[in-house]
Amino acid sequence: MEYVKVAPEEPPGFAGLTSKPVSTLPATETVVPDFNRRTPKQKKPHSGTRQHFPIGAKTEFFRRRFFPDTTRSDWNDWRWQLRNRIRTIKTLENIFALSEDERSAVLRHTGALPVGITPYYASLMDTADPQDPLRRTHIPVNGEYIKTPGEADDPLGEDHDMAAPGLVHRYPDRVLFLATGFCSTYCRYCTRSRMVGETGTGNAFSLDNWNKALDYISAHPEIRDVLLSGGDPLTIADDKLDYLLTRIRAIKHVEFVRIGSKVPTVMPMRITKDLVKMLRKHHPLWMSIHVTHPVELNAETTEAYARLADAGIPLGSQTVLLKGINDTVETMTEMVHGLLRRRVRPYYLYQCDPITGSAHFRTPVSKGLEIIEGLRGHTTGYAVPTFVIDAPGGGGKIPLLPNYVSGREGDDLLLRNFEGKTFRYHDDGGSNDAR
Ligand code: SF4
Repeated sequence: MEYVKVAPEEPPGFAGLTSKPVSTLPATETVVPDFNRRTPKQKKPHSGTRQHFPIGAKTEFFRRRFFPDTTRSDWNDWRWQLRNRIRTIKTLENIFALSEDERSAVLRHTGALPVGITPYYASLMDTADPQDPLRRTHIPVNGEYIKTPGEADDPLGEDHDMAAPGLVHRYPDRVLFLATGFCSTYCRYCTRSRMVGETGTGNAFSLDNWNKALDYISAHPEIRDVLLSGGDPLTIADDKLDYLLTRIRAIKHVEFVRIGSKVPTVMPMRITKDLVKMLRKHHPLWMSIHVTHPVELNAETTEAYARLADAGIPLGSQTVLLKGINDTVETMTEMVHGLLRRRVRPYYLYQCDPITGSAHFRTPVSKGLEIIEGLRGHTTGYAVPTFVIDAPGGGGKIPLLPNYVSGREGDDLLLRNFEGKTFRYHDDGGSNDAR
């Protein structure tokens, strides 16, 4: 029996607030007539993690085929999803018809960014087609081992800006708090591929590290905004996350907290009533949800996003532009419309960071501009995300826009609208107003 080489697993939640490593903890569009309303037949949820949660038709078919002994209740238990993540070549081959490229790439893998896919997320993938969009983002291919010019393990220079263990202080008034190195699924294009999923190293997170990061924030009154990320902070058990949020919110100069997470999309049953009840204690709290493709927007994510929105948490999306996966105007339009219907504001569209071995995911920058041009003016303004390049070397996010200024004639600015028509704007700075 062959196994993928993976870093040792962390159990879901750590036993106590000790200095041990902080452990953390997971479609086809289903027709949903009302995106934010529970079905009338839904029963009152149980307490704890086992609560009623929808299962879409495609996912239910997958569950019965590959996990026939698993009850619907277990399937909708996020801890079950974590325990049963697909991590070995054996389980991958039981489910997917692997291409030779995938198979050899999986067997070559060592170190950080192990293979890890929740059964739920696997249910959204085409088990027969290696070109399936979501499958390409989670099953490695040998392109991962090819380093091309301009690529680096830490292209954003996060390690350079590490003010305390797991705390990146780049912008003056805000910090990135890497609360854990654990994710429910591992994206092959991850910006932090150098460190996520690896335990027993300097990148493992611990209460001692949390304390050092909290001490740093306390000592810097200019920090008004803390972004919790990782790894994925929503893989942390409720009581530990509550503890961390309480500690952060107790710092007077921190005005609000943001959480960046892929969990609502790849393990939506994690968004339990207990979790949102805890989160809403820590307002103002914002959340950025990692979304890749419209196939992720189904009955399950509809429920998860609705629970968060109902708890008063403003939701934004973050999407990495990926070659052959979501790089068309049609795919992106379907996705941003689906997000708005679910009360998620499309927020950032990222040019794929030049991490080592990511060339097979990266589009030319012109592709992102083409997508923004295909959205702006053609649909609701709220649906248009900001296209950004996270500047290599730690320059921060730089927004990019198609050029809508086509020239100037005297005081007239020549502007191009979304239909390509030219309009004049008299741009004299209001100099005649005072005469
Ligand atoms: S969930 Fe986020 S941190 Fe984890 S592997 Fe994916 S992109 Fe990286």
